[in-house]
Amino acid sequence: MAVAWETMFGDGLAALDPEISGLIDAQRTQNAATVNLVASETYCPRATLEAEASVLVNKNASGYPPRRSVGGGEILDRIELLACERARRLFGAEHANIQALSSTLANVAVVRGLLRPGDRILSFDAAAGGHGSHGGAGHLSGQDYVVRSFGVDERTGLLDLEGARRTAREFRPHIVIAGSSSYPRAIDFAAVGAIAAEVGALTFADIAHVAGLIVAGLHANPTPHYDVVTTSTHKTLCGPRTGGLILCRSAHAAAIDAALMPGLQAAPGAHIIAARAALFALVARPEFTVLMRGVVANARALAEGLREGGAVLYCGGTDTHMVVVDLRGGPWSAADLNARLLRHGIVASTTGLPADPARQGRLGLRVGTTAMTIRGAGEPDLRAMGRAVAHLLAAGPAAPDDPSVAGAIAGLAGRFPVPAA
Ligand SMILES: *Cc1c(COP(=O)(O)O)cnc(C)c1O
Repeated sequence: MAVAWETMFGDGLAALDPEISGLIDAQRTQNAATVNLVASETYCPRATLEAEASVLVNKNASGYPPRRSVGGGEILDRIELLACERARRLFGAEHANIQALSSTLANVAVVRGLLRPGDRILSFDAAAGGHGSHGGAGHLSGQDYVVRSFGVDERTGLLDLEGARRTAREFRPHIVIAGSSSYPRAIDFAAVGAIAAEVGALTFADIAHVAGLIVAGLHANPTPHYDVVTTSTHKTLCGPRTGGLILCRSAHAAAIDAALMPGLQAAPGAHIIAARAALFALVARPEFTVLMRGVVANARALAEGLREGGAVLYCGGTDTHMVVVDLRGGPWSAADLNARLLRHGIVASTTGLPADPARQGRLGLRVGTTAMTIRGAGEPDLRAMGRAVAHLLAAGPAAPDDPSVAGAIAGLAGRFPVPAA
């Protein structure tokens, strides 16, 4: 018996499942009514959404081109080769792998491809701004390997390179990982690379947050100098979530490719790969550089507004798309402040900071400017948003909600509508 397309598979979402459809509408309504300062979010280009919602979503094609185990993979071969060629050109890499289903999985493939269990990893401390997949206790990378970390020099607000060098000399890591999810300053990849070279370690940069800035020439690019680089494609690269890109030297390609597939995954997402190929074409355009310049200028303005309102900034400010408000020593937890902001129409996220020993929980509030810059907001607007956040922060957790702030934020959200997709 044939399934009648007309009666079941052919139903639209609202007809088939009003509950889920209604929840998606609720998300759309929330997006429109709020100011988005989530540093890891963006509004992906329409072309990438089209690719993700295309017939490619049906194609099963395990393997790397041109060796697929399922027939009819030649078209995906061409798409994947284009995606990888564009990625290599964009970052200056010898080899690219675009199959990772997330960038956390990409990171697992790298460590499993290059290390043996029990080998030593030196990485940027997750509590200081690093990422859990660089050796965090709750992640495989922290369980199968021996991990030491370096942090931030609180006097300069920059990576503690002296501490990293001391630890490297004593610990003799097999690999050094540089990269962050909530460090607002530029990462000195060359200096970290020099420390790794001194002790004969491999170099691994995770550029998930700053990849778009790198493409635009606004942040140093580690790719030509590092053994391996990974990135997500949905933060400043502005693609749809989720998915990971691995770039590496040719010498590491076979080991890392095999560690990802079959080591961790089977078939890749043909639709995800096609969307990434289109994304790489888009971000190579000069308009993307203009957008990223706006993102960085807006982050400086956001930082100024926060500082004017009395907020303390982690690492003293920003060189990127991101600002982290330091709540250590104050009455707020990041979770409570984040909830208070949301009630006033501001969406942000929390992050850990090197802990204040007297307090529990996360004490960093992370804000970023990619999403609002895409929506057309400029420096005076971001400065106003910074002042609004600082105003609610200064009022303290016991203060009542402030309708005038909520009104001003609703006005900003309305002036900068979410791009229709
Ligand atoms: C966000 C982030 C990741 C994780 O990306 P997913 O694709 O969501 O797994 C990895 N590394 C860093 C540095 C990140 O900021």
